[in-house]
Amino acid sequence: MPELEVDHEASFKLKEEFKRLTVSQFKQEKDIHVTNLLWCLEKAARRIDNPQEEKPNRYMVEGTLAHLDLEPIIGALFGEGKVVTREKKIRWRGIVGTIDLMIDGIPYEIKTNATGRVNDTYLEQLSSYLIFTQAPYGKLVVRWLPRDFNTTDTEYHIDVYTYRPLREHLDEWVNTLTFRRDTVKASIRTGEHVPLEDINRKFFECGSCIYAKLGCPYAIKGRY
Ligand code: SF4
Repeated sequence: MPELEVDHEASFKLKEEFKRLTVSQFKQEKDIHVTNLLWCLEKAARRIDNPQEEKPNRYMVEGTLAHLDLEPIIGALFGEGKVVTREKKIRWRGIVGTIDLMIDGIPYEIKTNATGRVNDTYLEQLSSYLIFTQAPYGKLVVRWLPRDFNTTDTEYHIDVYTYRPLREHLDEWVNTLTFRRDTVKASIRTGEHVPLEDINRKFFECGSCIYAKLGCPYAIKGRY
């Protein structure tokens, strides 16, 4: 009998569990989610009227796994003796938000990032949750991943931010969110594509988008 052999059954079980945990994060639903309104609105509309099996890319899978690790740690560390809710679902004017953590009424958004800078979409997401919950501020936790895993830097690169936007900023964001929601709804109702000027597509999105393969007229071709 070899000293070391793969336990196929246990490996399979673990892989299936990882798959369940990560793929469930990309499950398509009939609701309009905040996260869909931060990116390409054509994709947001088609995800609802023409749902397809979407495969997360490697970066998304690793990010999701890191995220799942962080939630209970942060909840235990900052939520001692407080009310902690993980994955809290909130509905606001026909938009659904799932808040990573609510600790004593304060929304926490957890991100994993390899670019080294806070993305605008993180703050847009947190602004949405502040509007939905009426919380006075939110917390953003960013775990910075190295771009080079051979680095000898062994520091833990993680930052916690307090986000307290101005009232005017939140009012502006209410208008943007409702406009995007109405744009997506209109596209679903009429079957027309989202007008190109309203699409809010980021330059890299088409590269991993299933609708590019299905003939989206707006798909940007090439390398990403
Ligand atoms: S292919 Fe590009 S433009 Fe079309 S839905 Fe996907 S991300 Fe949006």
